[in-house]
Amino acid sequence: MPASPPSVEFAGVSKRYASGITALENVSFSIPPGQIVALLGTSGSGKTTALKLINRIEEASSGSVLLDGQPVSKMDSMHLRRSIGYVIQEGGLFPHWTVAENVATVPRLQQWPDARIQERVEVAMQLAQISGAEFCQRYPATLSGGQRQRVAIARALAAEPRLLLLDEVFGALDPITRDALHVEMKALIAKLSVTTIMVTHDVVEAFKLADRVALLDKGRLIQFGTPEELVLAPCDEFSREFFAQHGLDIRLRYLHLERVIPFLKHDASPSNGSVELDGVQTLADALDKMAGVGSEQFIVRCGDGTGHGPYRRKDVWALLRGASI
Ligand code: ADP
Ligand code: MG
Repeated sequence: MPASPPSVEFAGVSKRYASGITALENVSFSIPPGQIVALLGTSGSGKTTALKLINRIEEASSGSVLLDGQPVSKMDSMHLRRSIGYVIQEGGLFPHWTVAENVATVPRLQQWPDARIQERVEVAMQLAQISGAEFCQRYPATLSGGQRQRVAIARALAAEPRLLLLDEVFGALDPITRDALHVEMKALIAKLSVTTIMVTHDVVEAFKLADRVALLDKGRLIQFGTPEELVLAPCDEFSREFFAQHGLDIRLRYLHLERVIPFLKHDASPSNGSVELDGVQTLADALDKMAGVGSEQFIVRCGDGTGHGPYRRKDVWALLRGASI
């Protein structure tokens, strides 16, 4: 059986605006179905432009953007946009429409029967953890920032999108609301297994949510890979510098052991008194667990049942210090 095409593919994509600014230059990457990819970079690096090329708010100057193997340039742009959930930083809700009307926007445009709209709006609102008849009749101005973003997310999900695009949607929220939404969003995307591209300039946000990270600088794709690859094997000085300021914190708390393993030294000596960790746990978890039982080494049990290790506490510190790369 032929492999299914990537859900999203950028093939040598450049974008020059009429002003002469080159916002993207020869960018190529592809995203398998169901993955979460973070576009990470400082302001002006071309992240928002990349999203706009997918839903054709802007057109590529050269190269092509493909969805499920088909170039978006050949698709009907209205139909395309309705098949993509798009959320922007301010939420972009219609101020004179109630929550319920906002969430129902795309199903109404698609002229779904009323009963199906009603049902789907309820599902989308439950997914985004908003509910209540009173709440549904409120207007965006009466909502908190976190509630508005939940409504915007429910609206984006209402028409069962093939793809979800999130442009700095957590950026304006206070840290506690943002952390709560990160956890909810990760669970929601996993549940729906909808391919998601999220734009952020926040390294920790990218590492918490994304399967893959695309690091952009001045319109160029510097590196594309797992969070572990970017931090533990930066491809150049820019990539190294970009993560350096967060180095210890993200290495400890956000890298998953199963993807860190290729970068850890393996101790071939017999394993006595190892603690066992799950592949999705972190280096911080490993240090905690070893400290808890006074052990000096651990093994990692991955999702496929394979065991790896033992690794020693000093190997972890070598990795955290960057001494082993
Ligand atoms: P980011 O989202 O990473 O901050 P953008 O994609 O918004 O970056 O912008 C990339 C570059 O393109 C910036 O230099 C920006 O000023 C420029 N740019 C964005 N939109 C337009 C536009 N509509 N017309 C001209 N230049 C633009
Ligand atoms: Mg932007």
